[in-house]
Amino acid sequence: MSKPVVAIVGRPNVGKSTLFNKLTGSRLSIVEDTPGVTRDRIYADCEWCGRGFMLVDTGGIEPRTDDVLLSQMRQQAQLAIEQADVIILVTDLRSGVVANDLDVAVMLQKSGKPLVLCVNKSDSLGDPPAEFYEFYNLGLGDPIQVSAVHGHGTGDLLDAVLEHLPPEENEVEEDDVIRVAIIGKPNVGKSSLVNRISGEQRVIVSNIAGTTRDAVDTEVQNEHGKFVLIDTAGIRRKSRVDDPIEKYSVLRAKLAIERAQVCVIMIDACEGFTEQDSKVAGLAHEAGKASIIVVNKWDAVEKDGKTMDSYRKKLMEDFSFMSYAPILFISAKTGQRVDRLFELIKFVDSQNALRISTGMLNDVLADATARVQPPTDKGKRLKIYYMTQPSTRPPTFVCFVNRADLFHFSYQRYLENRIRDVFGLEGTPMRFIIRERG
Ligand code: GDP
Ligand code: GDP
Repeated sequence: MSKPVVAIVGRPNVGKSTLFNKLTGSRLSIVEDTPGVTRDRIYADCEWCGRGFMLVDTGGIEPRTDDVLLSQMRQQAQLAIEQADVIILVTDLRSGVVANDLDVAVMLQKSGKPLVLCVNKSDSLGDPPAEFYEFYNLGLGDPIQVSAVHGHGTGDLLDAVLEHLPPEENEVEEDDVIRVAIIGKPNVGKSSLVNRISGEQRVIVSNIAGTTRDAVDTEVQNEHGKFVLIDTAGIRRKSRVDDPIEKYSVLRAKLAIERAQVCVIMIDACEGFTEQDSKVAGLAHEAGKASIIVVNKWDAVEKDGKTMDSYRKKLMEDFSFMSYAPILFISAKTGQRVDRLFELIKFVDSQNALRISTGMLNDVLADATARVQPPTDKGKRLKIYYMTQPSTRPPTFVCFVNRADLFHFSYQRYLENRIRDVFGLEGTPMRFIIRERG
């Protein structure tokens, strides 16, 4: 279920973004000669020879001075070492091997992660030029000639990546284990929660051995079941360079979410809701994962009998796009309601995997369309003939209709609510696929 991660690392201007775009067949990330351009698209789903993986561009950092450059490159490489299954180190044929390439190569090699060395800007076809052989000095095995601009060599590069991917059966989830990503801004209390849980409950394996990608995973077993907590607290590791932190925290959260079945979106009770919280929550929503909004540090809030209700009301407005998510007030410090959190995790996970029979679904549909007639336009009325749920995680519904353009968002929202009224689906997003049928 969780896709392998392939990370692209390398100095600025070697062509990482160009390569990313070429490999993902898109122009989502912006390539410019001017330094300082922000590239917000940093990950994409890829497929090569039937094998899916997530490609991550760790680039986009524009250093101001050389010493900053090296520290940023190390940080980038560190992130890749932690999170990726395979790392592509991109170098530049035109500039040859430079000191920073060597430094990062040593670091990557020590990590033991599978590596693919890409010598980019090899624009001319045919035998490699003499400069190419210099790249063997990096000690990373056979370099692959690539021209990200023209696309030469990208097939060889992907073949090499595929060779290093973990065998596919490893991706099969153990179905009695629920993987939980704990996401949120720095300092909201993510690691405190994990520490609290591992201090109190039986932790089978902390820091599961094996790939370094799992270094922040904690496996826990309690009366509610087996869980793997994916802690994204690595975000907080301070660095002298502050710019890339935000970017990396989003990336870390994204990767954790991809690997999880349930997301715990943690906010700080004292601070309240911020834009960054909704950004993180939006990632979970888009990924179709079950979510719980957890308000931590509840011990530190001065309250009377009404505080929780009004806090909850306010949060439901702030997180209106995920009104399905239950809200829980906890304290990682005192342990208040941490037990309840596990019950909820188990519950929303089951909701995310819920399958509704076609018969029941169409009963709800008939009832819903009788209560509120579907919209019309210029005398033509939307007809929903039939509805079925082909897949789960998240529950996805296909609606066969006469005209897709009449199926406005508001009516979709209405149907969604009707389905939720009847079947619950608490804590999980749902998706609609609209198909026209004449
Ligand atoms: P990044 O900083 O590593 O992400 O590098 P970019 O992808 O932004 O590329 C830096 C510059 O190198 C841009 O001007 C690209 O057009 C150029 N470039 C990237 N790949 C190639 C290539 O294969 N051949 C040539 N000639 N130029 C390239
Ligand atoms: P992270 O960056 O999200 O992992 O946050 P930490 O777990 O490192 O916590 C940040 C700070 O918040 C620390 O000083 C914690 O002691 C404090 N903290 C965490 N949970 C609670 C809580 O439930 N109540 C109170 N009062 N403080 C907390």
